[in-house]
Amino acid sequence: MPDTKNNLVIDRPVCPVCKSPKRTILISVKHNSDGFLDFIKFEKFYSKEFYESYTSGAIDDLLFEIAECGNCGLAYLTEVLNDNGMEMLYNKWLDKELLKDYYSQQEYSSYEESILKVIKKHFKHKEKVNVMDFGAGYGNFCSISTKLGINTFAFDLSTDKNDHINSMGVTIINNFEKYKGYFDFIYVNQVFEHVADPFGILSNLAQCLTEKGILYVAVPNAKDTKSTVKAEGLSQNLFRLLSPHQHVNGFNNNSLKQLGINVGLKPLSMLDFFGMLNSSFNLNELKFILKKGLKNSSVGTSLFFSRA
Ligand SMILES: [Zn+2]
Repeated sequence: MPDTKNNLVIDRPVCPVCKSPKRTILISVKHNSDGFLDFIKFEKFYSKEFYESYTSGAIDDLLFEIAECGNCGLAYLTEVLNDNGMEMLYNKWLDKELLKDYYSQQEYSSYEESILKVIKKHFKHKEKVNVMDFGAGYGNFCSISTKLGINTFAFDLSTDKNDHINSMGVTIINNFEKYKGYFDFIYVNQVFEHVADPFGILSNLAQCLTEKGILYVAVPNAKDTKSTVKAEGLSQNLFRLLSPHQHVNGFNNNSLKQLGINVGLKPLSMLDFFGMLNSSFNLNELKFILKKGLKNSSVGTSLFFSRA
């Protein structure tokens, strides 16, 4: 099938978080307009194949258009890759070798280790704690989790990455049906800014939680999208917030909370965190929960949710 606009993208006429059609268009530019290639080039991981498709005209007819939802405040691209386009992106347009090198050089995350230790303690009455990393990438989180003796599961779109994770003693999931009500903790780090239908994915994930299960979502904070578009146009700063094909949803604290609420989850508040504190956390763990949990619950875009 040749790459034409119609078999690569879909239009999003309403907000992908709250379904509201109310919106303001912040910027609207065709991919083949002057200077747009410089904007695309802020992405360091595009492959030769991507630029070949671009220059042969197959993918330069696309539209880069940012809308701001008048209801929940999400900034989102109106035209995004469909399933076929996503397949192209992750299997052809991004240079896998470059990505692999980059992720293998990432430092060990003591932040992720702290989250997992806190979760393990929170569910200490259970014989085995079941954790899923949704969008597991190259498995950095999974490798910490298995080392802590946690029953670890991973989901990722790319089959190539799955082979890598498989070798670490992690169970790869490709079907949620079998895992309804199964997970004590689901970790979704830097995923929802990339997907066309965050609502649909989070609905599925919410059903996979145990009754007391907790879900963590972290996305880049894109609260400054509007002011950045106004002040700088197609700048590198804007690219970090929203970019063609990759960062298609720009969340702020409110729109991320709304996403959870709309699928029946409850954002954990300050009070909820204080409720968790009467378990046996040590001083460092308490500091961690206070700093990460409390601060983020009111302003940030790294949030914890429970089943409502
Ligand atoms: Zn909305």
